[in-house]
Amino acid sequence: MKRKGILIVVSGFSGAGKGTLVKKLIEKYDNYALSVSATTRQPRAGEQDGREYFFLQKEQFEQKIAENGLIEYACYCDNYYGTPREYVEGQLKDGKDVILEIEIQGALKIREQYRDALLLFVMPPNAEELRRRLVGRGTETEEVIDKRMRRAAEEAQGIEEYDYIVVNDDLETCVGELHEIILAAHNTPNRNKEFIENIRKELEGEK
Ligand code: ADP
Ligand code: 5GP
Repeated sequence: MKRKGILIVVSGFSGAGKGTLVKKLIEKYDNYALSVSATTRQPRAGEQDGREYFFLQKEQFEQKIAENGLIEYACYCDNYYGTPREYVEGQLKDGKDVILEIEIQGALKIREQYRDALLLFVMPPNAEELRRRLVGRGTETEEVIDKRMRRAAEEAQGIEEYDYIVVNDDLETCVGELHEIILAAHNTPNRNKEFIENIRKELEGEK
């Protein structure tokens, strides 16, 4: 039986460590494919077009929406972010577990379209540590950090929509936990309908 890929959504407050965690997960284990999103925000120092994001102008992004080229998109802190359709659907067909590192509005749109998607929410140990990480990353101005902290308070209202939370205190522990949750998700009945149906038919034949 061919293993079916799971669509995995990883959300969490800006600075919680999603990017760091997902990078480790992919380095450490096979079978994960990371979707590269499109965005209209400016590249940060060191970010490369096509690697961290596809950096688009607003008009180009709107063109993608019009072409149905995105499986979801959202506006986050004044910029568009969206998931290109082609890569995700291709990788799922190949049996890969595809990771989308996206915010909560997008996560909810994914849940509507892909009933078997696994929704994970990364938490910092506490709010003070979250701010420390955002400041420590050194990629945003103080004004943007404040905006992202306010957005975090809003996002915190939606955590119950997710299947699991993981606390990113010790990085390695958290990577291991994420991987174990995904392994377990492969074994739920709703993600193994075909296999279950086949066994049922075989058992009928044995009667
Ligand atoms: P996000 O993708 O959620 O916005 P990042 O992965 O960019 O967050 O992480 C934000 C900052 O926190 C980075 O500087 C990163 O090195 C740091 N960081 C991530 N995980 C941990 C951790 N477990 N302990 C301490 N610092 C961490
Ligand atoms: P950042 O600007 O820090 O890279 O990302 C800001 C937020 O946008 C993060 O919460 C990130 O997960 C989210 N994000 C990144 N790509 C996408 C996407 O394709 N769709 C949605 N909905 N959110 C995204």
